[in-house]
Amino acid sequence: MTKKKLATVWLGGCSGCHMSLLDIDERILDVIKLADIVKCPIVDTKEFPEADIALVEGSVTSDEHLHELLHIRKKSRVLIALGDCAVTTNVTGMRNCLTKEEVFNYAYIQAASNDKEGKTPDHPALLKLRDKVVPLQEVVKVDFSIPGCPPSADTIFYVLAELLNDRIPNLAQERKLKYG
Ligand code: SF4
Repeated sequence: MTKKKLATVWLGGCSGCHMSLLDIDERILDVIKLADIVKCPIVDTKEFPEADIALVEGSVTSDEHLHELLHIRKKSRVLIALGDCAVTTNVTGMRNCLTKEEVFNYAYIQAASNDKEGKTPDHPALLKLRDKVVPLQEVVKVDFSIPGCPPSADTIFYVLAELLNDRIPNLAQERKLKYG
């Protein structure tokens, strides 16, 4: 079987979903028998390469995330929303009930941890936050979702193993096997 190309990406999330991916522990050896990891947060490639499977953690919070996600979609055969932030916005979407200006004002000026000189940073290298945070499926077609905050390592491994063996994951069946 030809090795597949696996990519993992971290958009607006806390990295907890990637921590859970690492919790598959020695089963990573089963994954790398079937796939080359062509992109992940510790692989220093600037461009997102062609991928058979892209695991995307986090929601779309900024213009940069939006452009990155559109690019990832073009390059990926199967795009998976990894974790509740990617699926529903979850924690990152909590700011959606406020305006962006209110969020900045609170974070950089009013918060008790700031001194009286606090001001909103505007360095060009900073992400350009969008008015509202949105989940992946609002921007691109998502082929598969792995819910959870974070999703369990067992579930992540199950989905990866199925796809890498050219099978379609069935999370309902996986739950039944686990919990009856
Ligand atoms: S789903 Fe939970 S663990 Fe994953 S990025 Fe969001 S907050 Fe972090």
